[in-house]
Amino acid sequence: MLETVTKGFRAAKNRLAGKSELTPDLVDESLRDIRVSLLEADVAFDVVKKFVARVREKAVGEVVQTTVTDAGGQKRRVSAMDHFVKICHDELQALMGPVDTSLHLKPKGQLSGIMMVGLQGSGKTTTTGKLASRLLQEGRKPLLVAADIYRPAAVDQLKVLGERLKVPVYHEPGVQPPELAKRGYAAAREQKCDVVLIDTAGRLAIDETLMTELEAIKANVQPDTILLVCDAMIGQDSVRTAAEFDRRLTLDGFILTKLDGDARGGAALSIKEVTGKPIKFLGMGESMDKLEEFRPEGLAGRILGFGDIVGLMKDFEKVVDEKKAEDDARKLLSGQFSMKDFVEQIRMVRKMGPLKDLLEKFPLFGDLTEHLNPDEKELTKIEAMYDSMTQKERLRPDLINASRINRISKGSGRKPEEVRELLQKFGMMQQVMGTIGQNPGLLGRIPGFK
Ligand code: GDP
Repeated sequence: MLETVTKGFRAAKNRLAGKSELTPDLVDESLRDIRVSLLEADVAFDVVKKFVARVREKAVGEVVQTTVTDAGGQKRRVSAMDHFVKICHDELQALMGPVDTSLHLKPKGQLSGIMMVGLQGSGKTTTTGKLASRLLQEGRKPLLVAADIYRPAAVDQLKVLGERLKVPVYHEPGVQPPELAKRGYAAAREQKCDVVLIDTAGRLAIDETLMTELEAIKANVQPDTILLVCDAMIGQDSVRTAAEFDRRLTLDGFILTKLDGDARGGAALSIKEVTGKPIKFLGMGESMDKLEEFRPEGLAGRILGFGDIVGLMKDFEKVVDEKKAEDDARKLLSGQFSMKDFVEQIRMVRKMGPLKDLLEKFPLFGDLTEHLNPDEKELTKIEAMYDSMTQKERLRPDLINASRINRISKGSGRKPEEVRELLQKFGMMQQVMGTIGQNPGLLGRIPGFK
């Protein structure tokens, strides 16, 4: 995800690695890497220009603090990379934030309405289902209105989603969308539902008929929220679309879909800056549970290749209790986790479902996805090697010498090279974790992490 954007930041980080001072030349060179990748990712030109200027101003102009006091009271030097990454993180967050996921719904029990708009194929119908599923979990009673009457399959698609979610779907053939929406509200009152989600028609491009119809629906039911569903794969075009929809309908915010694919990231970075309206949710896959609240700091972290620590912890909370998640975070971020913790983390990830979705959020892998892309098979191998280690070796992998490698290799049925490779990767992860753990800016953003 967002590989194109991440590439530039990664190059900048490599350039700064090991440097102690952030000189103007280094800043300019690093910003050149970032600028190229932002443009390649289809971030709007003006946004790139502003972002680069803001980072430059801060990085060159600020008096560089050379030491910080960490949580344990220890003084530590701040490297040029730490400093630069912190500025980029803050600016990325400022670009996409502040966080605003409110749907402006009335209190439970009173009828609210959400109007979903977007171009055809953007994922509007799917997202309407996802949002209904989310509202159900929050104890609301949604009703879906199938107002995309021009694409017959859209009505059926929504009915199928409704059946799956056990949510009523309102539709009457032959009725025009503005009237259909109104009757949908009446049906919701009758069925004691408290949120109406209107799935409106999309077109391949914005046209006058589409806009006039949407304006008529809005005037007829006065929804509490109007959300534009945007395909993140489309880049700058989707930002232009967003601006036009906003001009005509006064949007409340956006849902960016298909962020799980190889979206270049342009829309995610430009849309707020260009329109002034917030991104509220991200679509991260086709199934109903793949809708995430948008948190700018999480996405900034992922873009910088640190992994989305807070997002990861939220996923943890679903499987383990909060206390344990917090302890795990603390341990992970201390940079002193052992092989035992490493394997426990992997076991935990496996419980959390499809691995691939999670890897990017996982700090262990965030910066290493290029080197390490373990599939289920590879994880089984890792577990086999781990099982063949003694307790002491698990806690102190640095003690593992050639003869121990051979013993672990025999015990696990893996080649000695594989054991060596595992130890090497583990060492790299330890290093990455150390970097994250020592970055006080990142730590401060983790709830409960003092
Ligand atoms: P609509 O024409 O805007 O109503 O679009 P649909 O809801 O029919 O979605 C178009 C296609 O995009 C379908 O194949 C969806 O499964 C897919 N889709 C929607 N949201 C996402 C997402 O977040 N990730 C991925 N990978 N696919 C999505």
